[in-house]
Amino acid sequence: MTETANSAAGGAASGAVETALAPNEGLLSLPAHELAAKIQAGEVTSREVTQAFLDRIAESDDAVGAFLHVGAEEALAAADAVDAQVAAGEEPVSPLAGVPLALKDLFVTTDAPTTAASKILEGYMSPYDATIVTKIRAAGIPILGKTNLDEFAMGSSNENSAYKVTHNPHDLSRTPGGSGGGTAAALASGQAPLGIGTDTGGSIRQPASLTGTVGAKPTYGAVSRYGMIANASSLDQCGPCANNVLDTALLHEVIAGHDPFDATSVDRPVSSVVEAAREGASGDLSGVRIGRVKQFGGEGTQAGVSDVIEASFAQLESQGAEIVEVDCPNFAHVMGAYYIIQTSEVSSNLARFDGMRYGQRRGDDGSHSAEEVMAITRGEGFGDEVKRRVILGTYALSVGYYDAYYLQAQRIRTLVAQDFAKAFEQVDVIAGPATPTTAFKLGDKVDDPLAMYNFDLFTLPLNLAGLPGLSVPAGTASDTGLPVGLQVIAPAFADERMYKVAAAFEAGRK
Ligand code: GLN
Repeated sequence: MTETANSAAGGAASGAVETALAPNEGLLSLPAHELAAKIQAGEVTSREVTQAFLDRIAESDDAVGAFLHVGAEEALAAADAVDAQVAAGEEPVSPLAGVPLALKDLFVTTDAPTTAASKILEGYMSPYDATIVTKIRAAGIPILGKTNLDEFAMGSSNENSAYKVTHNPHDLSRTPGGSGGGTAAALASGQAPLGIGTDTGGSIRQPASLTGTVGAKPTYGAVSRYGMIANASSLDQCGPCANNVLDTALLHEVIAGHDPFDATSVDRPVSSVVEAAREGASGDLSGVRIGRVKQFGGEGTQAGVSDVIEASFAQLESQGAEIVEVDCPNFAHVMGAYYIIQTSEVSSNLARFDGMRYGQRRGDDGSHSAEEVMAITRGEGFGDEVKRRVILGTYALSVGYYDAYYLQAQRIRTLVAQDFAKAFEQVDVIAGPATPTTAFKLGDKVDDPLAMYNFDLFTLPLNLAGLPGLSVPAGTASDTGLPVGLQVIAPAFADERMYKVAAAFEAGRK
Protein backbone atom coordinates (compact mmCIF):
# COMPACT_ATOMS: atom_id res chain seq x y z
CA MET A 1 0.00 0.00 0.00
CA THR A 2 2.87 2.34 0.60
CA GLU A 3 4.67 1.55 -2.65
CA THR A 4 5.28 4.41 -5.03
CA ALA A 5 4.64 2.35 -8.10
CA ASN A 6 3.85 -1.28 -8.48
CA SER A 7 4.05 -3.73 -11.33
CA ALA A 8 1.15 -5.44 -12.96
CA ALA A 9 1.27 -8.21 -15.49
CA GLY A 10 -0.44 -7.97 -18.86
CA GLY A 11 -0.96 -5.13 -21.29
CA ALA A 12 2.23 -4.50 -23.17
CA ALA A 13 3.87 -7.26 -25.16
CA SER A 14 7.19 -6.36 -23.58
CA GLY A 15 6.05 -7.78 -20.23
CA ALA A 16 5.74 -5.94 -16.94
CA VAL A 17 3.89 -2.64 -16.89
CA GLU A 18 4.73 -0.04 -14.27
CA THR A 19 1.59 1.12 -12.51
CA ALA A 20 0.66 3.39 -9.61
CA LEU A 21 -2.95 2.50 -8.95
CA ALA A 22 -5.02 3.41 -5.88
CA PRO A 23 -4.56 1.04 -2.93
CA ASN A 24 -7.56 -1.27 -2.60
CA GLU A 25 -7.80 -1.16 1.17
CA GLY A 26 -7.92 1.48 3.87
CA LEU A 27 -9.15 5.08 3.74
CA LEU A 28 -7.73 5.73 0.27
CA SER A 29 -9.91 3.04 -1.27
CA LEU A 30 -13.23 4.39 0.04
CA PRO A 31 -15.72 6.40 -2.01
CA ALA A 32 -16.01 10.08 -1.03
CA HIS A 33 -19.59 9.67 0.27
CA GLU A 34 -18.46 6.91 2.64
CA LEU A 35 -15.52 9.00 3.86
CA ALA A 36 -17.91 11.89 4.50
CA ALA A 37 -20.25 9.62 6.47
CA LYS A 38 -17.35 8.34 8.61
CA ILE A 39 -16.22 11.90 9.30
CA GLN A 40 -19.73 12.95 10.35
CA ALA A 41 -20.07 9.85 12.54
CA GLY A 42 -16.82 10.74 14.28
CA GLU A 43 -15.16 7.46 13.19
CA VAL A 44 -12.33 9.33 11.54
CA THR A 45 -11.39 13.00 11.36
CA SER A 46 -11.16 15.06 8.20
CA ARG A 47 -7.55 15.77 9.21
CA GLU A 48 -6.76 12.03 9.19
CA VAL A 49 -8.46 11.56 5.84
CA THR A 50 -6.80 14.63 4.30
CA GLN A 51 -3.39 13.62 5.69
CA ALA A 52 -3.78 10.12 4.23
CA PHE A 53 -4.27 11.60 0.75
CA LEU A 54 -1.40 14.06 1.25
CA ASP A 55 0.84 11.11 2.23
CA ARG A 56 -0.23 9.21 -0.87
CA ILE A 57 0.62 12.25 -3.01
CA ALA A 58 4.04 12.50 -1.34
CA GLU A 59 4.84 8.83 -1.96
CA SER A 60 3.46 8.47 -5.49
CA ASP A 61 3.61 11.80 -7.29
CA ASP A 62 7.23 11.49 -8.42
CA ALA A 63 5.99 8.60 -10.53
CA VAL A 64 2.54 9.99 -11.48
CA GLY A 65 3.19 13.73 -11.81
CA ALA A 66 -0.43 14.76 -11.20
CA PHE A 67 0.19 17.90 -9.12
CA LEU A 68 1.77 21.22 -10.00
CA HIS A 69 1.27 22.51 -6.46
CA VAL A 70 0.35 20.79 -3.19
CA GLY A 71 -1.15 22.97 -0.45
CA ALA A 72 -0.82 20.70 2.58
CA GLU A 73 -1.13 23.41 5.22
CA GLU A 74 -4.20 25.02 3.67
CA ALA A 75 -5.86 21.63 3.14
CA LEU A 76 -5.29 20.61 6.77
CA ALA A 77 -6.61 23.95 8.04
CA ALA A 78 -9.81 23.40 6.03
CA ALA A 79 -10.00 19.86 7.44
CA ASP A 80 -9.63 21.15 11.00
CA ALA A 81 -12.53 23.55 10.48
CA VAL A 82 -14.77 20.61 9.52
CA ASP A 83 -13.53 18.55 12.47
CA ALA A 84 -14.38 21.43 14.82
CA GLN A 85 -17.92 21.53 13.41
CA VAL A 86 -18.32 17.78 13.87
CA ALA A 87 -16.97 18.02 17.44
CA ALA A 88 -19.44 20.82 18.18
CA GLY A 89 -22.31 18.67 16.88
CA GLU A 90 -23.14 21.08 14.08
CA GLU A 91 -24.98 20.02 10.92
CA PRO A 92 -22.56 19.18 8.07
CA VAL A 93 -22.11 22.12 5.67
CA SER A 94 -22.47 19.69 2.73
CA PRO A 95 -22.72 15.94 2.07
CA LEU A 96 -19.00 15.96 1.14
CA ALA A 97 -17.75 17.99 4.11
CA GLY A 98 -14.24 16.99 5.15
CA VAL A 99 -13.41 15.00 1.99
CA PRO A 100 -10.48 16.50 0.05
CA LEU A 101 -10.29 17.38 -3.64
CA ALA A 102 -7.77 17.89 -6.46
CA LEU A 103 -8.31 21.12 -8.43
CA LYS A 104 -7.27 21.55 -12.06
CA ASP A 105 -4.81 24.45 -12.20
CA LEU A 106 -7.08 26.42 -14.49
CA PHE A 107 -9.05 27.97 -11.60
CA VAL A 108 -7.77 31.02 -9.78
CA THR A 109 -7.14 30.66 -6.04
CA THR A 110 -5.97 33.20 -3.49
CA ASP A 111 -3.90 30.73 -1.46
CA ALA A 112 -1.98 28.94 -4.21
CA PRO A 113 -0.34 29.96 -7.48
CA THR A 114 -2.40 29.58 -10.67
CA THR A 115 -0.47 28.77 -13.85
CA ALA A 116 -2.81 27.13 -16.41
CA ALA A 117 0.37 25.01 -16.93
CA SER A 118 1.84 27.95 -18.86
CA LYS A 119 5.17 29.69 -18.37
CA ILE A 120 3.43 33.00 -18.98
CA LEU A 121 1.60 32.68 -15.64
CA GLU A 122 4.50 31.28 -13.64
CA GLY A 123 4.17 32.42 -10.02
CA TYR A 124 0.87 34.22 -10.61
CA MET A 125 -1.20 34.78 -7.45
CA SER A 126 -4.85 35.72 -7.95
CA PRO A 127 -6.48 38.42 -5.84
CA TYR A 128 -9.76 36.44 -5.82
CA ASP A 129 -11.12 32.88 -5.84
CA ALA A 130 -13.06 31.37 -8.75
CA THR A 131 -16.76 30.94 -7.91
CA ILE A 132 -16.49 27.15 -7.82
CA VAL A 133 -13.53 27.45 -5.44
CA THR A 134 -15.64 29.61 -3.12
CA LYS A 135 -18.38 26.96 -3.27
CA ILE A 136 -15.92 24.13 -2.62
CA ARG A 137 -14.52 25.94 0.40
CA ALA A 138 -18.04 26.69 1.70
CA ALA A 139 -18.87 22.98 1.34
CA GLY A 140 -16.02 22.11 3.73
CA ILE A 141 -14.00 20.36 1.03
CA PRO A 142 -10.23 20.72 1.63
CA ILE A 143 -8.26 21.49 -1.55
CA LEU A 144 -5.17 19.25 -1.73
CA GLY A 145 -3.54 21.21 -4.52
CA LYS A 146 -3.59 22.17 -8.18
CA THR A 147 -3.30 19.53 -10.88
CA ASN A 148 -1.42 19.45 -14.16
CA LEU A 149 -3.04 20.06 -17.55
CA ASP A 150 -2.15 20.89 -21.12
CA GLU A 151 -1.22 24.57 -21.34
CA PHE A 152 -4.44 26.63 -21.11
CA ALA A 153 -6.31 23.30 -21.47
CA MET A 154 -5.26 22.86 -25.10
CA GLY A 155 -4.33 19.28 -25.79
CA SER A 156 -5.32 15.67 -25.28
CA SER A 157 -2.39 14.13 -23.42
CA ASN A 158 -1.02 16.60 -20.84
CA GLU A 159 2.17 16.73 -22.90
CA ASN A 160 1.56 20.42 -23.66
CA SER A 161 2.12 21.36 -20.01
CA ALA A 162 5.06 23.74 -19.65
CA TYR A 163 6.01 22.11 -16.34
CA LYS A 164 5.81 18.34 -16.34
CA VAL A 165 4.40 15.19 -17.86
CA THR A 166 1.61 13.34 -16.07
CA HIS A 167 1.58 9.55 -16.30
CA ASN A 168 -1.37 7.17 -16.49
CA PRO A 169 -1.51 5.17 -13.22
CA HIS A 170 -2.60 2.07 -15.21
CA ASP A 171 0.65 2.19 -17.21
CA LEU A 172 3.16 4.89 -16.38
CA SER A 173 4.55 4.91 -19.92
CA ARG A 174 1.18 6.11 -21.22
CA THR A 175 -0.80 9.34 -21.18
CA PRO A 176 -3.61 9.87 -18.66
CA GLY A 177 -5.32 11.92 -21.39
CA GLY A 178 -5.80 15.65 -21.51
CA SER A 179 -6.25 18.33 -20.86
CA GLY A 180 -7.46 17.18 -17.44
CA GLY A 181 -4.91 14.38 -17.11
CA GLY A 182 -3.64 15.63 -13.74
CA THR A 183 -7.00 15.39 -12.01
CA ALA A 184 -7.80 12.02 -13.62
CA ALA A 185 -4.39 10.57 -12.68
CA ALA A 186 -4.80 11.83 -9.09
CA LEU A 187 -8.13 9.97 -8.84
CA ALA A 188 -6.86 6.75 -10.40
CA SER A 189 -3.75 6.66 -8.21
CA GLY A 190 -5.65 7.22 -4.96
CA GLN A 191 -4.17 10.69 -4.41
CA ALA A 192 -7.63 12.27 -4.20
CA PRO A 193 -11.22 10.99 -3.97
CA LEU A 194 -12.71 14.05 -5.74
CA GLY A 195 -11.51 16.27 -8.56
CA ILE A 196 -12.41 19.21 -10.74
CA GLY A 197 -11.92 19.36 -14.49
CA THR A 198 -12.84 21.57 -17.41
CA ASP A 199 -14.15 20.43 -20.76
CA THR A 200 -13.86 22.48 -23.96
CA GLY A 201 -13.80 19.52 -26.33
CA GLY A 202 -13.50 16.50 -24.06
CA SER A 203 -10.95 17.35 -21.38
CA ILE A 204 -13.04 15.88 -18.56
CA ARG A 205 -14.52 12.84 -20.33
CA GLN A 206 -11.47 11.73 -22.31
CA PRO A 207 -9.04 11.54 -19.33
CA ALA A 208 -11.80 9.85 -17.28
CA SER A 209 -12.12 7.22 -20.00
CA LEU A 210 -8.35 6.63 -20.23
CA THR A 211 -7.86 6.31 -16.46
CA GLY A 212 -10.96 4.30 -15.54
CA THR A 213 -12.50 7.13 -13.53
CA VAL A 214 -15.77 9.09 -13.80
CA GLY A 215 -15.90 12.60 -15.25
CA ALA A 216 -18.93 14.71 -16.10
CA LYS A 217 -19.31 17.76 -18.32
CA PRO A 218 -22.52 19.49 -17.18
CA THR A 219 -24.81 21.41 -19.53
CA TYR A 220 -23.15 24.61 -20.79
CA GLY A 221 -24.01 27.40 -18.36
CA ALA A 222 -24.90 25.11 -15.44
CA VAL A 223 -21.63 25.71 -13.58
CA SER A 224 -20.00 29.12 -13.26
CA ARG A 225 -16.92 29.91 -15.36
CA TYR A 226 -16.02 32.94 -13.23
CA GLY A 227 -12.37 32.57 -12.28
CA MET A 228 -11.86 29.69 -14.69
CA ILE A 229 -9.16 30.79 -17.11
CA ALA A 230 -10.80 30.96 -20.54
CA ASN A 231 -9.86 28.64 -23.37
CA ALA A 232 -12.86 28.97 -25.74
CA SER A 233 -15.68 30.64 -23.84
CA SER A 234 -18.61 29.29 -25.86
CA LEU A 235 -17.36 25.71 -25.39
CA ASP A 236 -15.73 25.72 -21.92
CA GLN A 237 -17.49 24.00 -19.05
CA CYS A 238 -16.29 23.11 -15.57
CA GLY A 239 -17.32 19.75 -14.16
CA PRO A 240 -16.93 17.16 -11.37
CA CYS A 241 -14.71 14.06 -11.39
CA ALA A 242 -14.54 11.11 -8.96
CA ASN A 243 -14.13 7.35 -8.80
CA ASN A 244 -17.85 6.55 -8.93
CA VAL A 245 -21.07 8.10 -10.25
CA LEU A 246 -22.66 9.06 -6.91
CA ASP A 247 -19.56 10.98 -5.74
CA THR A 248 -19.49 12.79 -9.08
CA ALA A 249 -23.15 13.75 -8.68
CA LEU A 250 -22.60 14.97 -5.11
CA LEU A 251 -19.76 17.21 -6.29
CA HIS A 252 -21.86 18.38 -9.25
CA GLU A 253 -24.48 19.75 -6.84
CA VAL A 254 -21.76 21.52 -4.82
CA ILE A 255 -20.40 23.47 -7.81
CA ALA A 256 -23.51 24.03 -9.97
CA GLY A 257 -25.87 26.99 -9.84
CA HIS A 258 -26.43 30.47 -11.15
CA ASP A 259 -23.64 33.02 -10.76
CA PRO A 260 -24.25 36.71 -11.51
CA PHE A 261 -20.48 37.08 -12.11
CA ASP A 262 -20.71 34.85 -15.21
CA ALA A 263 -22.88 36.30 -17.98
CA THR A 264 -23.36 32.84 -19.55
CA SER A 265 -24.38 31.21 -16.29
CA VAL A 266 -27.98 30.06 -16.52
CA ASP A 267 -30.51 31.10 -13.89
CA ARG A 268 -32.47 27.94 -13.25
CA PRO A 269 -32.59 25.32 -10.49
CA VAL A 270 -29.68 22.85 -10.27
CA SER A 271 -30.59 19.46 -11.80
CA SER A 272 -31.32 16.81 -9.14
CA VAL A 273 -28.36 14.68 -10.16
CA VAL A 274 -27.79 13.10 -6.72
CA GLU A 275 -31.36 11.83 -6.57
CA ALA A 276 -30.96 10.51 -10.13
CA ALA A 277 -27.70 8.71 -9.28
CA ARG A 278 -29.33 7.10 -6.24
CA GLU A 279 -32.31 6.06 -8.35
CA GLY A 280 -30.02 4.60 -11.01
CA ALA A 281 -28.16 2.52 -8.43
CA SER A 282 -31.11 0.06 -8.46
CA GLY A 283 -29.82 -0.97 -11.89
CA ASP A 284 -33.28 -0.87 -13.43
CA LEU A 285 -33.40 0.77 -16.86
CA SER A 286 -36.80 -0.40 -18.00
CA GLY A 287 -38.56 2.21 -20.09
CA VAL A 288 -35.32 4.08 -20.86
CA ARG A 289 -34.54 4.58 -24.56
CA ILE A 290 -30.82 4.80 -25.29
CA GLY A 291 -29.58 6.11 -28.63
CA ARG A 292 -26.63 4.59 -30.44
CA VAL A 293 -25.07 7.01 -32.93
CA LYS A 294 -24.62 5.43 -36.36
CA GLN A 295 -21.52 7.58 -36.95
CA PHE A 296 -19.71 6.61 -33.70
CA GLY A 297 -17.23 3.74 -33.82
CA GLY A 298 -16.32 1.84 -36.96
CA GLU A 299 -13.12 2.70 -38.80
CA GLY A 300 -10.40 4.22 -36.63
CA THR A 301 -11.83 2.72 -33.45
CA GLN A 302 -9.63 0.17 -31.68
CA ALA A 303 -11.10 -3.35 -31.74
CA GLY A 304 -10.75 -3.70 -27.96
CA VAL A 305 -12.73 -0.48 -27.45
CA SER A 306 -15.48 -1.57 -29.88
CA ASP A 307 -15.81 -4.89 -28.02
CA VAL A 308 -16.26 -3.16 -24.66
CA ILE A 309 -18.84 -0.77 -26.11
CA GLU A 310 -20.70 -3.68 -27.74
CA ALA A 311 -20.78 -5.49 -24.39
CA SER A 312 -21.94 -2.28 -22.70
CA PHE A 313 -24.95 -1.97 -24.99
CA ALA A 314 -25.78 -5.63 -24.35
CA GLN A 315 -25.60 -4.97 -20.62
CA LEU A 316 -27.80 -1.86 -20.85
CA GLU A 317 -30.33 -3.88 -22.83
CA SER A 318 -30.28 -6.67 -20.24
CA GLN A 319 -31.03 -4.02 -17.61
CA GLY A 320 -34.24 -3.14 -19.44
CA ALA A 321 -33.16 -0.30 -21.76
CA GLU A 322 -34.28 -0.12 -25.35
CA ILE A 323 -31.40 0.58 -27.76
CA VAL A 324 -32.29 2.72 -30.79
CA GLU A 325 -29.93 3.67 -33.62
CA VAL A 326 -29.83 7.42 -34.26
CA ASP A 327 -28.41 9.14 -37.34
CA CYS A 328 -26.20 12.21 -36.88
CA PRO A 329 -24.82 12.88 -40.39
CA ASN A 330 -23.31 16.28 -39.54
CA PHE A 331 -20.94 14.76 -36.98
CA ALA A 332 -18.66 14.14 -39.98
CA HIS A 333 -17.78 17.86 -39.94
CA VAL A 334 -17.33 18.30 -36.20
CA MET A 335 -13.55 18.23 -36.16
CA GLY A 336 -13.15 21.08 -38.68
CA ALA A 337 -15.84 23.23 -37.05
CA TYR A 338 -14.44 22.76 -33.55
CA TYR A 339 -10.90 23.71 -34.51
CA ILE A 340 -12.07 26.88 -36.26
CA ILE A 341 -14.34 28.02 -33.42
CA GLN A 342 -11.98 26.95 -30.63
CA THR A 343 -8.92 28.62 -32.16
CA SER A 344 -10.87 31.78 -33.03
CA GLU A 345 -12.00 32.20 -29.44
CA VAL A 346 -8.52 31.35 -28.17
CA SER A 347 -6.96 34.05 -30.32
CA SER A 348 -9.24 36.57 -28.66
CA ASN A 349 -9.19 35.21 -25.08
CA LEU A 350 -5.41 34.88 -24.89
CA ALA A 351 -4.80 38.45 -26.05
CA ARG A 352 -4.98 39.49 -22.39
CA PHE A 353 -1.73 37.69 -21.60
CA ASP A 354 0.55 40.46 -22.75
CA GLY A 355 2.99 40.87 -19.87
CA MET A 356 1.23 44.04 -18.75
CA ARG A 357 -1.50 42.60 -16.54
CA TYR A 358 -0.80 39.05 -15.42
CA GLY A 359 2.16 36.85 -14.65
CA GLN A 360 5.47 37.09 -16.40
CA ARG A 361 6.95 40.09 -18.22
CA ARG A 362 10.02 39.56 -20.42
CA GLY A 363 12.27 41.96 -22.25
CA ASP A 364 11.42 44.93 -20.03
CA ASP A 365 15.03 46.17 -19.81
CA GLY A 366 14.49 49.71 -21.05
CA SER A 367 15.67 48.95 -24.58
CA HIS A 368 12.30 47.74 -25.92
CA SER A 369 9.00 49.41 -26.70
CA ALA A 370 5.80 48.25 -25.00
CA GLU A 371 4.81 46.33 -28.16
CA GLU A 372 8.19 44.62 -28.22
CA VAL A 373 7.88 43.66 -24.54
CA MET A 374 4.47 42.13 -25.30
CA ALA A 375 5.88 40.22 -28.26
CA ILE A 376 8.89 38.96 -26.28
CA THR A 377 6.70 37.96 -23.33
CA ARG A 378 4.25 36.07 -25.52
CA GLY A 379 7.02 34.52 -27.60
CA GLU A 380 8.78 33.15 -24.54
CA GLY A 381 5.70 32.58 -22.39
CA PHE A 382 3.47 30.51 -24.70
CA GLY A 383 4.23 26.97 -25.85
CA ASP A 384 4.03 25.73 -29.45
CA GLU A 385 0.46 24.42 -29.34
CA VAL A 386 -0.91 27.65 -27.88
CA LYS A 387 0.94 29.67 -30.51
CA ARG A 388 -0.34 27.38 -33.28
CA ARG A 389 -3.92 27.97 -32.15
CA VAL A 390 -3.56 31.74 -31.71
CA ILE A 391 -2.17 31.96 -35.25
CA LEU A 392 -4.89 29.70 -36.73
CA GLY A 393 -7.66 31.58 -34.94
CA THR A 394 -6.34 34.99 -35.92
CA TYR A 395 -6.24 33.82 -39.54
CA ALA A 396 -9.77 32.38 -39.41
CA LEU A 397 -11.18 35.64 -38.07
CA SER A 398 -9.32 37.96 -40.44
CA VAL A 399 -11.06 40.00 -43.11
CA GLY A 400 -11.59 37.92 -46.24
CA TYR A 401 -11.48 34.59 -44.41
CA TYR A 402 -14.17 35.14 -41.78
CA ASP A 403 -17.04 34.05 -44.07
CA ALA A 404 -15.17 31.08 -45.48
CA TYR A 405 -14.10 29.66 -42.12
CA TYR A 406 -15.70 31.10 -38.99
CA LEU A 407 -19.17 31.55 -40.42
CA GLN A 408 -19.17 28.10 -42.01
CA ALA A 409 -18.04 26.58 -38.72
CA GLN A 410 -20.91 28.29 -36.91
CA ARG A 411 -23.34 26.86 -39.48
CA ILE A 412 -21.99 23.37 -38.85
CA ARG A 413 -22.38 24.00 -35.14
CA THR A 414 -26.09 24.63 -35.69
CA LEU A 415 -26.44 21.49 -37.81
CA VAL A 416 -24.73 19.38 -35.11
CA ALA A 417 -27.16 20.76 -32.51
CA GLN A 418 -30.03 19.89 -34.86
CA ASP A 419 -28.73 16.31 -35.25
CA PHE A 420 -28.82 15.97 -31.47
CA ALA A 421 -32.27 17.56 -31.23
CA LYS A 422 -33.67 15.09 -33.79
CA ALA A 423 -32.02 12.18 -32.00
CA PHE A 424 -33.51 13.25 -28.68
CA GLU A 425 -37.00 13.13 -30.21
CA GLN A 426 -36.50 9.35 -30.31
CA VAL A 427 -34.37 8.63 -27.23
CA ASP A 428 -33.83 9.77 -23.63
CA VAL A 429 -30.02 9.60 -23.66
CA ILE A 430 -27.30 8.67 -26.14
CA ALA A 431 -24.46 6.30 -25.27
CA GLY A 432 -21.24 5.31 -27.01
CA PRO A 433 -17.47 5.35 -26.77
CA ALA A 434 -15.72 8.31 -25.13
CA THR A 435 -12.48 7.79 -27.08
CA PRO A 436 -11.51 5.84 -30.21
CA THR A 437 -8.61 4.03 -28.51
CA THR A 438 -7.27 3.33 -25.04
CA ALA A 439 -4.41 5.42 -23.60
CA PHE A 440 -1.54 5.88 -26.06
CA LYS A 441 2.16 5.96 -25.22
CA LEU A 442 3.59 9.28 -24.09
CA GLY A 443 5.46 10.74 -27.06
CA ASP A 444 3.43 8.84 -29.67
CA LYS A 445 1.26 11.70 -30.97
CA VAL A 446 3.15 14.70 -29.69
CA ASP A 447 4.58 15.62 -33.12
CA ASP A 448 1.33 14.99 -34.94
CA PRO A 449 -1.28 17.62 -34.01
CA LEU A 450 -3.90 16.18 -36.36
CA ALA A 451 -3.70 12.72 -34.79
CA MET A 452 -3.99 14.39 -31.40
CA TYR A 453 -7.03 16.40 -32.55
CA ASN A 454 -8.72 13.28 -33.97
CA PHE A 455 -8.58 11.64 -30.59
CA ASP A 456 -11.48 13.86 -29.45
CA LEU A 457 -13.86 12.87 -32.23
CA PHE A 458 -16.51 11.43 -29.90
CA THR A 459 -16.40 14.14 -27.26
CA LEU A 460 -16.39 17.32 -29.40
CA PRO A 461 -19.99 17.24 -30.73
CA LEU A 462 -21.43 17.85 -27.24
CA ASN A 463 -19.39 20.97 -26.66
CA LEU A 464 -20.55 22.43 -29.96
CA ALA A 465 -24.16 21.78 -28.89
CA GLY A 466 -23.71 22.71 -25.19
CA LEU A 467 -24.98 19.32 -24.02
CA PRO A 468 -24.03 17.39 -20.87
CA GLY A 469 -21.97 14.21 -21.15
CA LEU A 470 -20.22 11.86 -18.80
CA SER A 471 -17.70 9.04 -19.04
CA VAL A 472 -18.16 6.03 -16.75
CA PRO A 473 -15.78 3.04 -16.64
CA ALA A 474 -17.05 0.28 -18.95
CA GLY A 475 -14.31 -2.33 -18.72
CA THR A 476 -10.85 -3.17 -20.00
CA ALA A 477 -9.91 -3.53 -23.67
CA SER A 478 -8.77 -7.10 -24.31
CA ASP A 479 -6.10 -5.99 -26.80
CA THR A 480 -4.32 -3.49 -24.51
CA GLY A 481 -5.50 -4.32 -20.99
CA LEU A 482 -6.40 -0.64 -20.47
CA PRO A 483 -9.60 1.07 -19.30
CA VAL A 484 -12.43 2.04 -21.66
CA GLY A 485 -15.12 4.59 -20.78
CA LEU A 486 -18.75 4.61 -21.85
CA GLN A 487 -19.93 8.10 -22.72
CA VAL A 488 -23.53 8.96 -21.80
CA ILE A 489 -25.03 12.11 -23.33
CA ALA A 490 -28.26 13.88 -22.34
CA PRO A 491 -30.28 16.83 -23.67
CA ALA A 492 -29.45 20.29 -22.30
CA PHE A 493 -30.54 20.72 -18.66
CA ALA A 494 -31.42 17.03 -18.40
CA ASP A 495 -28.10 16.19 -16.70
CA GLU A 496 -29.97 13.94 -14.26
CA ARG A 497 -30.74 11.49 -17.07
CA MET A 498 -27.07 10.79 -17.76
CA TYR A 499 -26.40 10.29 -14.04
CA LYS A 500 -29.27 7.85 -13.70
CA VAL A 501 -28.18 5.77 -16.69
CA ALA A 502 -24.49 5.88 -15.70
CA ALA A 503 -25.30 4.86 -12.11
CA ALA A 504 -27.45 2.00 -13.37
CA PHE A 505 -24.72 0.90 -15.75
CA GLU A 506 -22.14 1.06 -12.96
CA ALA A 507 -24.42 -1.01 -10.69
CA GLY A 508 -25.02 -3.50 -13.50
CA ARG A 509 -21.28 -4.15 -13.88
CA LYS A 510 -20.88 -5.34 -10.29
N1 GLN B 1 -8.33 18.21 -26.81
C1 GLN B 1 -9.18 19.29 -27.13
C2 GLN B 1 -8.36 20.50 -27.49
O1 GLN B 1 -7.19 20.39 -27.49
C3 GLN B 1 -10.10 19.60 -25.99
C4 GLN B 1 -9.44 20.31 -24.87
C5 GLN B 1 -10.38 20.64 -23.75
O2 GLN B 1 -11.47 20.09 -23.65
N2 GLN B 1 -9.96 21.59 -22.92
O3 GLN B 1 -8.86 21.54 -27.77
